[in-house]
Amino acid sequence: MSAKRLSQKTVAVHAGSRLVGSTSQPLVPAIHMSTVGWFDSSDELDGALDGKDYVYSRISAQNTSLLEESVAALEGAEACVSYASGMAALRAVFDAQNLKPGDRVVMPGDGYGVTRLLFKTLCARAGVELHPLVLSDSQAPERLVALAPKFVLAESITNPLLSVPDLRVLAKACRQVGAALAVDGTFPSPYGQRALSLGADYAIQSATKWLNGHSDALAGTVSGSRERLAPLRSMRLLAGDVLGPFEAWLTQRGLRTLPVRMKAHNEHAAHVARRLAESPLLERVYYPGLSSHPHHAVAREVLEGGFGPMVAFDIKGAGRPEGYRFLEALKLARPGPSLGDVCTLVMHAASASARRMTPEERAAAGIGESLIRVSVGLEDPEDIVEDLLAAVAQGVKR
Ligand SMILES: *Cc1c(COP(=O)(O)O)cnc(C)c1O
Repeated sequence: MSAKRLSQKTVAVHAGSRLVGSTSQPLVPAIHMSTVGWFDSSDELDGALDGKDYVYSRISAQNTSLLEESVAALEGAEACVSYASGMAALRAVFDAQNLKPGDRVVMPGDGYGVTRLLFKTLCARAGVELHPLVLSDSQAPERLVALAPKFVLAESITNPLLSVPDLRVLAKACRQVGAALAVDGTFPSPYGQRALSLGADYAIQSATKWLNGHSDALAGTVSGSRERLAPLRSMRLLAGDVLGPFEAWLTQRGLRTLPVRMKAHNEHAAHVARRLAESPLLERVYYPGLSSHPHHAVAREVLEGGFGPMVAFDIKGAGRPEGYRFLEALKLARPGPSLGDVCTLVMHAASASARRMTPEERAAAGIGESLIRVSVGLEDPEDIVEDLLAAVAQGVKR
């Protein structure tokens, strides 16, 4: 642009806004921070407003499209819609069911506490009946059919007890009664399970966790058929719970290494679980890869590439003070209430992921004060075992 006859005020606004003449393709996607696009041709602008190109980032945006393409491919899905967080993704799927007063919803009775409170709130508001069930129980499919819900949410590996429902059997029960099945696959990530291939209608991820892998962006995704996702995409445009471009870019950067990271996380978790199971200081170790785990046989069938990156355990005789002392005694692992990082993250379940559940709900789910959850990182797993066991010993010392 010739800036000669323009005032500095104008130049400040317009100069340097367009790369003219370059046909170079960046190896790493550019970050498109612009919320609005403009076109030389009004026909193109008109078409963009109909969804043919990027014109306003609440409608569609370059970095979210690229991320959605990546996640859909990893999930084996036709399409993906991204959200500002995993909770926004769960809420969007719930809303898309258009539930009426008296309809029934089934969700895990032993799953993520925040999802439990979200669904309780949404169901109460809509006059919908909520039925929390332990979906890994052998009687769960039968009970599900008897309830005839409109909508079922499952977790691939439950948070924090690591139970593994047989999604194939649940999907069959859902089809029998015409219920839509959504699966929160955050714990195994699409590396460890592709819920759609097991019969789910929606595969949900808190991409904040393993997909991102580095704890630097909140994001959520819903994958499924184009038909299932069309109403979610239209609603996102109205509700505006979109993912920002920088978060989309960071998440996509993280997921490029998902398979190599997850292979290592899963192997390290298996090692940590095996070694912890030998400790006399622990009451019980929860890991679907241990032959003692009640759903080991199911996990073999429904999980891929190992048994997941998460391990949990009960410290013998511990209450909340011992649990807190254990967290403070850790030297390598961090007492961070999240998962999916390269660093091992450890959490006292009752006060963190299950904090939003009532004491009665926690008791019914079997989440006690001695329960610790571990997201196993990329450190040498034997270093982590030593750190955990030394901290357990500190925690229970009188
Ligand atoms: C963290 C988490 C969520 C919520 O995701 P956010 O990205 O924190 O909103 C949902 N489900 C599971 C299993 C989670 O671990």
